[in-house]
Amino acid sequence: MMNSLYVHIPFCIKKCLYCDFNSNSDLNLQDAYVEALIKEIRSLDYDEFNTIFVGGGTPTILNLKNMEKLLKELMKFNSKEFTFEANPGTITGDKIKLLKEFGVNRISMGLQAWQDRLLKKLGRVHDLNDFLFSYDLIRKEQFNNVNIDLMFAIPEQSVEDWIETVDNVLKIKPEHISCYSLIIEEGTPFYKMEMEGELKVVDESDERQMYYYSVSKLNSNGLNQYEISNFSMNGYECKHNITYWKNKEYIGVGSGAHSYENGFRYFNIRKTDGYIKAMANGSAVEERIKITKNDEISEYMFLGLRMIEGINKKDFEERFNLKVEDIFQKEIIKLERQNLIINDKSSIKLTPKGIDLSNQVFLHFLME
Ligand code: SF4
Repeated sequence: MMNSLYVHIPFCIKKCLYCDFNSNSDLNLQDAYVEALIKEIRSLDYDEFNTIFVGGGTPTILNLKNMEKLLKELMKFNSKEFTFEANPGTITGDKIKLLKEFGVNRISMGLQAWQDRLLKKLGRVHDLNDFLFSYDLIRKEQFNNVNIDLMFAIPEQSVEDWIETVDNVLKIKPEHISCYSLIIEEGTPFYKMEMEGELKVVDESDERQMYYYSVSKLNSNGLNQYEISNFSMNGYECKHNITYWKNKEYIGVGSGAHSYENGFRYFNIRKTDGYIKAMANGSAVEERIKITKNDEISEYMFLGLRMIEGINKKDFEERFNLKVEDIFQKEIIKLERQNLIINDKSSIKLTPKGIDLSNQVFLHFLME
């Protein structure tokens, strides 16, 4: 059985100002897109997936008819964890009922910030009330595994704003929270605004203060940090994302979706219309890349170190027939001396300082 299936829905009402994900607002393509997607799903060689994640974009933007068509296909895989991303402003009672009916058992919602002025700044299509209304609908439909995405270091966000966001989100008791620091990506309106000096960015010390606040507040309120940016109640860790962090294989379907299968990474055509056309001819795979053993080891290290439990040495040995020290002895000693990792008998993990400097740590595990 393959572990995980990712399904990409590339549509959004409009583009958020910071977004560089593969999404657009060509909603007139949704019928043809869902048809192409179903064709791709039916071409898969697997009967079962442990986890399914429908993400985007905004999956809940699909109309009821298309959503039902897609869900009918996906429910055949009998997944233990079946997540659907739901964005406030696109959620209706009918859609939520449909998700429940077809076996979705985890909802991931993007809120980002508690303050309407910051949501506006980000170019989000919803305000806080839309979010609370959607959250209520989801809970009324008895979904008991809900993630909320939050974002810190938003231009003009103060540390107090962030504290207010974290504290208020805790009060509504989600089982899972993701907290990502805003990265200003090239090609986005935010990037242009920053270049032109129009963006009041958060300085690094405030950004770190925000992060430390989330870690201490969430951990002390029963949402344990299990990955650099992810927190959950016990037993509610996102199994789908753990597939990625443990560098296990997965399949992605839809425009721009990536897969990792039989030692190859491959990805589909990114543009929606290009994907639809390619699927009409049988396949939308744009490129396949063979992953060498060295690539696999490096990826295993820096993905695994994102998890708070770190790299399990026994798992490493079972997968690669080598001890992690056989390859990285020098690096491990150096990083340990710098107090960036903890190296004990069974695992290697980042220290809090190592989390702050994680990108530098990961570089040490890059193999030629
Ligand atoms: S809702 Fe998400 S995918 Fe859509 S534009 Fe905003 S950030 Fe991008």
